[in-house]
Amino acid sequence: AVVLGIESSCDETGVGLVRMGERDPATGQPRLELLGHQLASSSDQHARYGGVVPEIASRAHLEAMQPTMAAAFAKAGIDRDQVDAVAVTCGPGLAGALLVGVAAAKAYAAGWDLPLYGVNHLAGHIAADTLEHGPLPANTLALLVSGGHTQLLRAGDLGTNLEQLGSTVDDAAGEAYDKVARLLGLGYPGGPVIDQQAAAGDPAAIAFPRGLTGPRDNPYDFSFSGLKTAVARYVEGKRRAGEPVPVADVCASFQEAVADVLTAKTVRAARDIGADTVVIAGGVAANGRLRELAEIRCGDAGITLRVPRPGLCTDNGAMIAAIGALAIAAGAQPADPALTGNPGLPVATVHV
Ligand code: ATP
Ligand code: MG
Ligand code: FE
Repeated sequence: AVVLGIESSCDETGVGLVRMGERDPATGQPRLELLGHQLASSSDQHARYGGVVPEIASRAHLEAMQPTMAAAFAKAGIDRDQVDAVAVTCGPGLAGALLVGVAAAKAYAAGWDLPLYGVNHLAGHIAADTLEHGPLPANTLALLVSGGHTQLLRAGDLGTNLEQLGSTVDDAAGEAYDKVARLLGLGYPGGPVIDQQAAAGDPAAIAFPRGLTGPRDNPYDFSFSGLKTAVARYVEGKRRAGEPVPVADVCASFQEAVADVLTAKTVRAARDIGADTVVIAGGVAANGRLRELAEIRCGDAGITLRVPRPGLCTDNGAMIAAIGALAIAAGAQPADPALTGNPGLPVATVHV
């Protein structure tokens, strides 16, 4: 069976085509093959505002949907009559942006007489990994780090549900990257440019705080707003003193603080719940230092680490086709015809 995935929750219009193969005997989950996917981004149009402007994103989705669909089919080298189901992101995300994807998915499903499934964007981020590395073992801990979320989740039953162990109490990791980039005047999105700048800096140059790492703090929760404030204070101090801001050192030290906390808490949680596999997903999983430090620390702890290739970490349509396929394989029923976008869809709701 082939599943078509449509993503439009933020500023990326994505369409992906995934083939569901044989079930893997060890996990009972189907093997997924990415046939092809296409992406259109309105990121450039938001850059001068320092963040995503919802109205601009919605209009861009509307304009990009059909050409992106056509390009995804061309890349996959298949015809629309070879598709068996449509999956669409129905939340969480921006209300207007979700609406465009859901309306398009309904139209394609109705026009092509296919069942429609509404799926969770966050579960999709995690499912992206199964396109490259196969089904996730039952004992999997997921670290989801994206523009709007930072969570530790049990992901062994991904097609059916996700169980949250902890989350950020304030900013998401990606949000911290975007805010720090903004205060350094590096533009939007902040992650890739900070990642790049950090390569030339010293991660030990400035001692930035590690949030919620005290003995009485919840070991599975995260906090990044104090870190962001510390970076802002440091930069302001330099500017007030008329001294140059050591941008590369600030980026490297900030990035080190983020990667240190994320990996330390993930390994701790994996040990506590007896997880033998850790998967890191979401846009921030593309980060070079996070991937490197996670590799080291999971290796030391005897945990198998899985991270999608960077291009599948940020939003795309392939991940939505993937979670659609996993949900269908787990017995999901098609969505109600009244399916609509839900900006606040809870992470535990893998499909509606
Ligand atoms: P959510 O998935 O929570 O709804 P989103 O879809 O907007 O939010 P993603 O597309 O998953 O978020 O990720 C975008 C975020 O990832 C942005 O905050 C961006 O700065 C960050 N990011 C992208 N690449 C990198 C990188 N190399 N290093 C660090 N952060 C990165
Ligand atoms: Mg984006
Ligand atoms: Fe996302």
